Amino acid sequence: MLALQGDVREHFHALTACGAEPVSVRRETELAAVDGLVLPGGESTAISKLLEVFGLLEPLRQRLRDGMPAFGSCAGMILLAREVLDTRPDAQSLSGIDMTVRRNAFGRQVDSFETDLEFTGLDDSVRAVFIRAPWVERVGDSVEVLARVPSGPAAGRIVAVRQGGVLATSFHPEVTGDLRVHRLFVDSVRERAAVRPS
Ligand code: GLN
Repeated sequence: MLALQGDVREHFHALTACGAEPVSVRRETELAAVDGLVLPGGESTAISKLLEVFGLLEPLRQRLRDGMPAFGSCAGMILLAREVLDTRPDAQSLSGIDMTVRRNAFGRQVDSFETDLEFTGLDDSVRAVFIRAPWVERVGDSVEVLARVPSGPAAGRIVAVRQGGVLATSFHPEVTGDLRVHRLFVDSVRERAAVRPS
């Protein structure tokens, strides 16, 4: 768990319930010791600043380049993008997924809302909680779109994606008690840990 800011505790609970052993990551040595990383919801510009202050920005980019599995929800999705629209000019991107994300994309009218949506790879629909959420405006060829907004003014907008072992959602699976999205992440971590030479 990247534990600089945001809803770290909710992800901790979800990961523990999946049978994983989450630990807090705030330093480079802690980052080096984990098999995967969750980037929580919160405030992406604050987390970006803290990544720089804590000296984690380059080490984290490097681990993502090396193929470390990751999962970002909301602010975490923004951080994982290659390009971010409507953010601060000094905000940093991790380029974990070849996508362009628009921050606070749903606008003031629909700042926070919930909906059920279809999610590729999951049998039943997922209850998706959006809180000042981003959406994805562009994905590269190697990015798989997993979910879109089903209806309403934002119908069709991309809200869940995956590129290799890196997963991102605009919404917050960590707040609903539904563990299926976290399980996808934990499965990627286990798969990679199983094939990696020790
Ligand atoms: N709007 C926030 C940001 O820009 C994200 C909101 C969230 O994570 N719930 O980082």
